[in-house]
Amino acid sequence: MPVYVKQPGAEAPPSGTHYVVARNGLHMHVQNDWLDAVIPVKEFSALEREEVRATVLLPPIGARVFAEIFTFFEAVFKRHSTEAAVLLHYSKEYGWAFTVPIQHVSRAYVKYEMDERLAGYRCVGTMHSHGSISAGHSQTDIHDEAEFDGIHVTLGSFQRSPQFTMAAEIVCRGQRFKLPIIMLEGVIPPIPKEADEKFKGWMFPERYYSVSKDILGDWTPHEDWFTRLTVDVVRFVPIKPSPLPMRPSDQAGAALITDAYPTFDSRFQLTPQDRKSKPPPWETVTPKDGEIPIVKKSTKKKRGIVDRLLGKKEPLNED
Ligand SMILES: [Zn+2]
Repeated sequence: MPVYVKQPGAEAPPSGTHYVVARNGLHMHVQNDWLDAVIPVKEFSALEREEVRATVLLPPIGARVFAEIFTFFEAVFKRHSTEAAVLLHYSKEYGWAFTVPIQHVSRAYVKYEMDERLAGYRCVGTMHSHGSISAGHSQTDIHDEAEFDGIHVTLGSFQRSPQFTMAAEIVCRGQRFKLPIIMLEGVIPPIPKEADEKFKGWMFPERYYSVSKDILGDWTPHEDWFTRLTVDVVRFVPIKPSPLPMRPSDQAGAALITDAYPTFDSRFQLTPQDRKSKPPPWETVTPKDGEIPIVKKSTKKKRGIVDRLLGKKEPLNED
């Protein structure tokens, strides 16, 4: 059966039944002497299946680079109890590197520019931390990373250092794939437990990875990196657990796949399908120079949230 590609301005194909590859997918145009119809087609039964996949064609991120990033995130957590982010760069000649972009950090989010570039390198991903909260790509992360094809890694549970939780993924046009652990040198994977493998509703599963920092010797993060952080104080208003279950990120992105970068609204923790006109559950205040950021503890409910953020309780929700 002929296949007609519906290019802009192209002429209509000759009559008769044929397939049409159009902007909105594959169709079959059924045309005979008594019926003329166009129907969507999910599968070509005559053809072989194609597997959806993504492989990073770069060497693993070196143990030293990973340990430095981990140590920087840990130092930010110790100073401010907040998240932080870095950009990952790769050069055929020089290997892996990372930069610390200008960023606003808090216990609940990190906001940063993704446009910093190093001469001779390609920016191929991001890493960010979740402080004491477990790692996992939140709906906010999924949105932020949708237009950035690359490696995106979240590290969390820093109160357990050198153990940590991790979500490492490859993103291509908003579609997400697990990043093989062999891509992260020096990271020791957790021992899988059957119960942990199950996705627990709106909580991210807690499986602890670990890293050895011996490779760093007496190296410490550059003081200059900390000056790129503006600490926002987040005053939480009581959060009701979302009635919507947190979805595994591969499902959350699935509705948006096109050959272009997905574009969608960035409402906190909501996928486009769930979008509602709700404000985020916090107010933010940027502390003045020299001021120590504090999270106000005024009600029991709020204290519960603060305890969770400080790692004294199991996390309720994440970034
Ligand atoms: Zn995050």
